[in-house]
Amino acid sequence: MTIFEKIAARQIPASIVHEEDDFLAFHDIQPQAPVHVLIIPKRCIPRVAEAADTDAVLLGRMMLAGRAIAEKLGVLESGYRLVVNNGRDAGESVPHLHIHLLAGRALNWPPG
Ligand code: AMP
Repeated sequence: MTIFEKIAARQIPASIVHEEDDFLAFHDIQPQAPVHVLIIPKRCIPRVAEAADTDAVLLGRMMLAGRAIAEKLGVLESGYRLVVNNGRDAGESVPHLHIHLLAGRALNWPPG
C-alpha cells in the first residue's frame, strides 16, 4: 500500500479537510505555503500519466473539489494553485496521484 492509501484507509493519521466516496483531501505534512492540501483518489493511480480514460470523471471531480476546499480554508477570493507532479524531473516523490492545492501567499511563476 502507498502511504496515501494508508491515509485513505485511516491506518496512518492525516488532517482531512474534505472527503467524498472515492477521493479525499488532507493537509500536507510539509507545507510549502500557508495552505497546502493534497487531493488524492482513494484507490491508487500511480501518476497522472498512468490514469485511464475511465478515470477522467474522478480526476475532474478532484480538480473541481479544489473550489470547495479553497472556500472552506478561506482562500477562494485570494486565489489558489493546483499542481500535479508527474515523474522524476517534476519532483514526484509519492507514487500515488495527488493534486497539490497551494494558497495563502503570492506564489512565484514560473515554479522552479
Ligand atoms: P510530490 O513531491 O508531488 O510527490 O508530493 C508529495 C507530497 O506528499 C509532499 O508535499 C509531502 O510533503 C507530502 N507527504 C508525504 N507524506 C505525507 C503524509 N504522511 N501526510 C501528508 N503529506 C505527506
